[in-house]
Amino acid sequence: MADETTSTPSTEQQQTSAPAPRPSGPRPPRPAGGPGGPGGPGGRKFFRRKKVCKFCTEKIEAISYRDVRLLQGFVAERGKIVPRRLTGVCTRHQRRLSQAIKQSRNIALLAFATRY
Ligand SMILES: [Zn+2]
Repeated sequence: MADETTSTPSTEQQQTSAPAPRPSGPRPPRPAGGPGGPGGPGGRKFFRRKKVCKFCTEKIEAISYRDVRLLQGFVAERGKIVPRRLTGVCTRHQRRLSQAIKQSRNIALLAFATRY
């Protein structure tokens, strides 16, 4: 009979209870592709970003209302006239352009508004 087992050393339990060292340092950066990336909301859909007036560069003074293909380039899909800040047309030509578009609408060469 030996009483040696009664005095169990408890030092081993304290050492094993220590968790593995895990430094909570800075996290690794996320891979790109998540929402809210650079650029912000509202991407640019229109490519017409030339800030030079098309008519001034081509020396077009009078805009004919019969030139439907030309006018359609300045009319949005639904029949609206594209604002000057999108097309880059100067004020002078934008006025003539809008006049031509309105004349063209009256003789049904252009649509007032596209119905869906
Ligand atoms: Zn111009």
